[in-house]
Amino acid sequence: MPLEALEISEAVRKGYAVLSALDIPIIVIDGETTVIFANPAAVSQFGAFSERAILSGRIRSPQILDMVAQVIADGRTRTIENAERVPSERWYEVRAASVEGEGLYVLSFRDLTEARRMDRMRTDFVANASHEMRTPLASLVGFIETIQGPARNDPKAQERFLGIMLEQASRMSRLIDDLLSLSRLEMRAHVAPTGEVDVSAICRHVIDALRPMADELGVEISLQTPEAPTTVTGDRDELIQVMENLIENACKYGQSGKRVDVEVKREEGGTIIASVRDYGPGIERQHVPRLTERFYRVDVDSSRAKKGTGLGLAIVKHILTRHRARLVVTSEPGQGSTFGVRFPAPNLG
Ligand code: ADP
Repeated sequence: MPLEALEISEAVRKGYAVLSALDIPIIVIDGETTVIFANPAAVSQFGAFSERAILSGRIRSPQILDMVAQVIADGRTRTIENAERVPSERWYEVRAASVEGEGLYVLSFRDLTEARRMDRMRTDFVANASHEMRTPLASLVGFIETIQGPARNDPKAQERFLGIMLEQASRMSRLIDDLLSLSRLEMRAHVAPTGEVDVSAICRHVIDALRPMADELGVEISLQTPEAPTTVTGDRDELIQVMENLIENACKYGQSGKRVDVEVKREEGGTIIASVRDYGPGIERQHVPRLTERFYRVDVDSSRAKKGTGLGLAIVKHILTRHRARLVVTSEPGQGSTFGVRFPAPNLG
């Protein structure tokens, strides 16, 4: 075998070895669309290609096959976006390029699914947030018009409407505060907190602050903490916000149970758990996994009546993720709910 040919085949072998190490699917075909090489990422995505298989045996999308035919015809690189619905919805950017002087063509598939999902989430979020703002705003405009028109000379009605307007404006303001909290947390999502805080002290502080609200609702809050310190690495203000949201929810939604038990425990191994137990109506099983989604509420009217924004548990989840802590929710309809925060064991290394 001539040395030159050997060198070429060695180069090709190396080229395929490099392509095999890539995590994006790559398929190499010849001018008849016979599959010459498929890297492991392509095989795991599309299945194995038998020897001398043609491309259309595995890739069925007419758009991709048309594009490949055009690239084979004129040698010009092309890119298209392609969506697959089965087995699950996935988006790809598919690129076909000719390998100069080799009579070969390379197909690469860039997975856009995650980016698309994020885009959709962002659009849904903006739509939800706008919708939440529109309702109090429409009510404010309505009452202003009434005060300017039919209720112009009715001070009693005016006073009542002004009270409602104040409530609606406060609701918008709470919503904006929560939205800002969320966006600040998103910006810091990848920065781990560095402070040292005592979870028991935080719970004590929050309970003291919430006592007037609990008294008004007729709810008694108890606190149980171990003797030893319950220190974790964390951001004090953020952890206060977590416990505040959980204890406030327990008082509001579990009001009928008249009691909320807060307990801080240290497990063997150093894991610290802070749990908030209420004796209210509890939460049906199907809602539990969705509670931390933005604007998800079991009952929208009840949440609004209790001055909720539907963002409290989303904020809790964001803060806990940053702290590498987990929220564990257990609930028994009719018996009440427990929202537990599990901090990771300290790294003793
Ligand atoms: P909200 O501002 O509506 O309180 P959250 O994100 O804090 O928003 O909570 C989302 C929903 O989870 C609430 O609307 C309520 O339906 C449910 N929920 C939260 N905590 C409890 C609880 N302790 N008991 C029953 N339901 C709860």
